[in-house]
Amino acid sequence: MEDCIFCKIASGAFGTEFHYEDENVVAFDDLHPQAPVHVLVVPKNHYANIIDGVPAEVLASMAKAVEAVAAKTGIDKTGFRCIMNTGADGGQTVMHLHMHVLGGASLGEGLIAKA
Ligand code: AMP
Ligand code: ZN
Repeated sequence: MEDCIFCKIASGAFGTEFHYEDENVVAFDDLHPQAPVHVLVVPKNHYANIIDGVPAEVLASMAKAVEAVAAKTGIDKTGFRCIMNTGADGGQTVMHLHMHVLGGASLGEGLIAKA
């Protein structure tokens, strides 16, 4: 996916600082943070979204990344929210699978949040 910004970031093309990296995923700060901690967990391979045949090992790496980011930032103690916006109604704007990890302040009691 030549024109995909998250493919480029995940490949290391921009020298982005990664909070976590393994063979399947990277985690880096959102450009426009919506909370004190706002990290995106992004597979290195391109999947459009969570219903694009994502392999189990990639999903496992995403979960590991969440755990690592939570421990590193301290939100493992205070709580956080994971969001995967999917498609038009989900408000997805970057069509490369990513999970938002938001925390560091109370996010309220809403069932959903648009990051
Ligand atoms: P979504 O609306 O769920 O598709 O979220 C896309 C997210 O990607 C938004 O929160 C943007 O702020 C973030 N974003 C877009 N471009 C970049 C970038 N170059 N680096 C980091 N985050 C980005
Ligand atoms: Zn991509």
